[in-house]
Amino acid sequence: MTATLVGLYGFVFGAAVGSFLNVCVARWPRDLSVIRPRSRCPWCGHQLAWFENIPLVSWLALRARCRCCDESISVQYPLVELTVALGWMLSFGYFGLDVVALRVAVFGTILFGIALTDLQHYLIPDGFTVFGLFWVIAMSVVGMVIGDQGPFVGPYDAIVGACAGAGLVAIVGWLGEAALKREAMGMGDVTLMAFAGAALGPARAIVTVFAGAILGAVTFLAVVYPIARVKQTVYREQTELALGGGSFEAPLVPFGVFLAPAAVLTLLWGDTMVAWLLRG
Ligand SMILES: [Zn+2]
Repeated sequence: MTATLVGLYGFVFGAAVGSFLNVCVARWPRDLSVIRPRSRCPWCGHQLAWFENIPLVSWLALRARCRCCDESISVQYPLVELTVALGWMLSFGYFGLDVVALRVAVFGTILFGIALTDLQHYLIPDGFTVFGLFWVIAMSVVGMVIGDQGPFVGPYDAIVGACAGAGLVAIVGWLGEAALKREAMGMGDVTLMAFAGAALGPARAIVTVFAGAILGAVTFLAVVYPIARVKQTVYREQTELALGGGSFEAPLVPFGVFLAPAAVLTLLWGDTMVAWLLRG
């Protein structure tokens, strides 16, 4: 099969996976099942028929509105489907119709789901990380049997990598909490790095944690923190609460949003980065 055709299959299959990822992102933070009930309109409860639930196509065909109550359907649904579809297309287009392509695509999809829930809800559901950890370790055994791990590590390094990633995040979080007197990294970040570390192995897991922590801290100090300060000041002036009340609460940092893309970059180009760091 040509690379174009394989990429096209990857796109279609990825769109379907993205559709399921939407369900996970919407339901897991609320502790709901991702299997039952079937998808409904969040406004009127209208249960979606199969033709209202086709990835990308339905949202366009329905012109972003529920067929029953005419309320708008969030653009996040087709955007997530499109992103995952493109990711799967690139993975299968690049690696070919291969187990490695599937492993890279699933790894990226889980991390994308983690980044979304962390950004929107400040939490990383166990559904992603527990499945991810077992998937990555099981596939490292499959890779060993077929003799092709692609950019992933074998079973032994997977176990060590899970421990190194989770352990380092726990240490960074603990020291950050001691220095800042507030929670720096959550348990979700620890589970995320156990899962990602199993794919990356210890060396690249360590690179990921440092890259994610630095990226997160810089974004926080340069963007999130100043905006929150301005908002707080405006709010105080409007409500005339300047009389000592309502101290400034710095916003939380969803580190998973930064660790997740760092893990993808490190998986694909980490060996080059590690070699460059060790040489320097
Ligand atoms: Zn509706």
